Amino acid sequence: MPELPDVEARKSVLEQYGLGKPVKNVIVRDERILEGVEAASFSRSLKGAEFTSVTRRGKYLLVRTNRNSTLLLHFGMTGDIVYTEKGSPPPPYSRVEFVFDSGSLHYTNMRMIGKVSLFATFGENEIEDISKLGPEPLDRKFTFKRFKEAMSGTKTTVHQALMDQQRIAGIGNIYSDEIAFQAGINPERKVESLSENEMRKLYEKMKWTLRRAIALHAELDSHQDLFIIPHRKKGGTCPKCGTTLKKVTIGGRSSYHCPKCQK
Ligand SMILES: [Zn+2]
Repeated sequence: MPELPDVEARKSVLEQYGLGKPVKNVIVRDERILEGVEAASFSRSLKGAEFTSVTRRGKYLLVRTNRNSTLLLHFGMTGDIVYTEKGSPPPPYSRVEFVFDSGSLHYTNMRMIGKVSLFATFGENEIEDISKLGPEPLDRKFTFKRFKEAMSGTKTTVHQALMDQQRIAGIGNIYSDEIAFQAGINPERKVESLSENEMRKLYEKMKWTLRRAIALHAELDSHQDLFIIPHRKKGGTCPKCGTTLKKVTIGGRSSYHCPKCQK
């Protein structure tokens, strides 16, 4: 499922192939992915426009246009951005295609969880989904003090608090596990049970994990010795000590941790 580093990778593709050139055509292949806008109106509003910038907020991308509008993309479970050269067939599950002179950008989504919307504004706070989000974990202004504030006032677990989009935006089930692993903290622990030192470790490892994952374009499988993510499966072992990982269900979601390294 696309989380902050995965959405950053999609942002790069959009920036590389979609900025500063006119959208020749917009093809909506499955109208069900659109929210709050009809296919005809969506296509008309974007045909001839140019994408001017791409911003990520949480697990969303906001694509600004030279018509003072914002295209909002959410990727749900299986959403992606795929570029194809001119004349190539559309990739599987292409739901919306933005056609440029040299090729096309596709919003693909196998399971149809996710959405594509268009707003006649640049204002993030005028977009309800975005206005509800907590702070960005990699924002320089998101200090340890603010992290503690964001995590406070809850009886919940470390795993769930990290995933709560209203506390901190962009972290989901997978990266919540990774951050807890890197911090050496059992994800089932209650937030309120963490010492000051453990809280600081969680904060620092949150930043470290997300930065490293972005630098690796969210492809962590080639770094099996460093991350728990490639080992999150039946029989998976801890990359640090070799112990078999423990799978638990927290808030209805599967979470993995090393019973030896994570206290
Ligand atoms: Zn271990």
